[in-house]
Amino acid sequence: MPLRAKVASSVSRTAAALSRAAGRGDGSVIGGWIGLKIDPDLLAHLAAGRAIALVSGTNGKTTTTRLTAAAVGVLGRVATNSFGANMPTGHTSALAKAGVTPYAVLEVDEHYLAQVLEATEPHVVALLNLSRDQLDRAKEVAMMAQLWRAALVRHPTVRVVANADDPMVVWAATPPAIRSNQVEPPAVTWFSAGQRWHDDSWVCPECGSPIERMSDQWWCTGCWLRRPEPQWVVEDDGVVDPAGDWHKVVLQLPGRVNLGNAATALAVAAEFGVRPTDAVSRLGGVASVAGRYAQVVRDGRTVRLLLAKNPASWLEAFDMADVAPTLLSINARDPDGLDTSWLFDVDFAPLRGRQVLITGDRAYDLAVRLDVNDVPFQHVRTFADAVASVPPGRLEVIANYTAFQDIRAELDRVN
Ligand SMILES: [Zn+2]
Repeated sequence: MPLRAKVASSVSRTAAALSRAAGRGDGSVIGGWIGLKIDPDLLAHLAAGRAIALVSGTNGKTTTTRLTAAAVGVLGRVATNSFGANMPTGHTSALAKAGVTPYAVLEVDEHYLAQVLEATEPHVVALLNLSRDQLDRAKEVAMMAQLWRAALVRHPTVRVVANADDPMVVWAATPPAIRSNQVEPPAVTWFSAGQRWHDDSWVCPECGSPIERMSDQWWCTGCWLRRPEPQWVVEDDGVVDPAGDWHKVVLQLPGRVNLGNAATALAVAAEFGVRPTDAVSRLGGVASVAGRYAQVVRDGRTVRLLLAKNPASWLEAFDMADVAPTLLSINARDPDGLDTSWLFDVDFAPLRGRQVLITGDRAYDLAVRLDVNDVPFQHVRTFADAVASVPPGRLEVIANYTAFQDIRAELDRVN
């Protein structure tokens, strides 16, 4: 690396370590910020010489990044931003901290994909899904898809691994020249990870016609856009690879959603030459991801933490949660987004019949939504009150960002 980049990298590591020592989180944002101030090209310098995978999408990217890093680990050391600092400051910090590694797997905020593609020149980019998120500041889904598409057109040699079940992703991943010939694009590997949330992809981004769905198929009624045949598919409790071989996948992470994330991880790792038979056992070693899915026993209750931050991820959380007493917690601080009106996009009916508790800064927004949705609930002031209000056994906790962190902090104090 040039001298300036070496200095920037070293200062970045020191700043991150100081921030950690001061108890101000993991320090990756401040470390990366300072490094990039000293050398604006630091991310590019740190990325040079590594084989890199980027993972982006509205939901599941932290978990998929973690699983992919585990799978690629078959080949050698992998640098990764495992705590969800998914903007260029976080990438810079993660690479500086890791030192020289042959591989890197980086989670990328969907708004920064173009910038990070430019800086890191990755070998492969994984596109998971696009749906509404943080209504007060995130881009409209169709605009996001357009940004992704434009970024990929500027990087025609990057390998793309994309979700065949999300029409917006398929459109973004399909280069314009290939669309007009109505031929399958050769550079894209398609996986099927399912799509529970359909309400951001009823209208074709290409021609504006309605999109129709039947079982797992979908197609535009006005143009060429339709579901491509996926090469990686979840089947029963395993994943089928492009050769047609089925691999049993035993995960500690719950739900069919995570089986889809595992299929994605195997598909991305395969782009580096990792055989699925070598990678599956490593996926089973992942127990929690930045505290998500973690299980903690407290006063005879087994508490499991699930993060849900927008309508699509709430549907996924309902899929992962057991039928058991459930605590919902909603805040609307800066990292959460300030607008909670998306709660009305979530159908909470799956919770009927369960004991439902609510808490958090915006518990009353939840209360109104649940009342309209005919779901009985009880308001509790603290997490400790919630634990005391349910019988011994499982307690599922579903919370958005800062609400999730509040509950983690309270659990850490006790355990
Ligand atoms: Zn169309």
